[in-house]
Amino acid sequence: SPTPGCDWLWRGKRRSDWSSRGGGVGGCFPGKNARGGPPSPAMGPLRAAAARGLPALHLFGDPAEVEALRGRLLAWYDQSKRDLPWRALAVTEPDVNRRAYAVWVSEIMLQQTQVATVIDYYNRWMQKWPTLQALAEASLEEVNELWAGLGYYSRGKRLQEAARKVVSELAGQMPRTAEELQKLLPGVGRYTAGAIASISYGQATGVVDGNVIRVLCRLRCIGADPSSPPVIDRLWAMANALVDRSRPGDFNQALMELGATVCTPKAPLCGECPVKQHCRARLRVGVAPKTVPSQPAGGCGLPAVPSPVPSGGEGAGLGLSEVIGKTPPGA
Ligand code: SF4
Repeated sequence: SPTPGCDWLWRGKRRSDWSSRGGGVGGCFPGKNARGGPPSPAMGPLRAAAARGLPALHLFGDPAEVEALRGRLLAWYDQSKRDLPWRALAVTEPDVNRRAYAVWVSEIMLQQTQVATVIDYYNRWMQKWPTLQALAEASLEEVNELWAGLGYYSRGKRLQEAARKVVSELAGQMPRTAEELQKLLPGVGRYTAGAIASISYGQATGVVDGNVIRVLCRLRCIGADPSSPPVIDRLWAMANALVDRSRPGDFNQALMELGATVCTPKAPLCGECPVKQHCRARLRVGVAPKTVPSQPAGGCGLPAVPSPVPSGGEGAGLGLSEVIGKTPPGA
């Protein structure tokens, strides 16, 4: 018979499936219950789970656990993070506009492109155009010349157009929140806006990319289709609730770094995982799996967890496609 709690998968495809049963961070859609009948639609998932004696398997409902998870993830990140030029600038650059610009350039370059490839391009770009103003004054030919070999040339062009807009229409001031960044800057989507705002400004806003989707789905044993808009909405809500309030930029980078280096699509290194204590997929399967099948098996254990990161390896995950590669570069 089904494992209690594991029928509590996200099954809803329509937004109405969520709105009628919402509540709780990452609340799940209660399907047919293993112990007899579905919970009342009027009950939020946490209360319904508790009433049935089921674990709130797909939720982060315990504030103490959330705190512990944040602490473990950040401690691991402090020890293990890769030394990358945009990370150094995000920490050392005192000017907020230059800092945001430095993070922005890295995020655009990392879309669809591997970290190792980006580093040299990034260093040359920042050397040539260290500020928004410098980039705004460059010619498109110069931009394309430096971008040559990185692919998706429209990214460089849009970056420059957006820089010109900031200089000419916003008095050289980068928008100061994720919402404003997304609204005002062409080519900046929800993910990029959240990354710039959390890393550059310390805004407590989450990010969701392919790596984050995979990690969150595994942590909470979520087997639902992550390409479904309601599921994506819930993952954003979960990321926003989880993000560490005092170190949001580091937390977001840590979650993505975990997905890129430890919680990989195939053969995740569960034994080395800093948050394995919190991983419900790992608990479900009982042992660290050797591989993750590409086809979801339909349960909520690790084999059922979708691997939404598109081909492209590390870069695809850290490359920060807005949502599982469905948004074209620059979105
Ligand atoms: S324990 Fe394994 S599956 Fe769970 S988050 Fe860590 S690496 Fe991923």
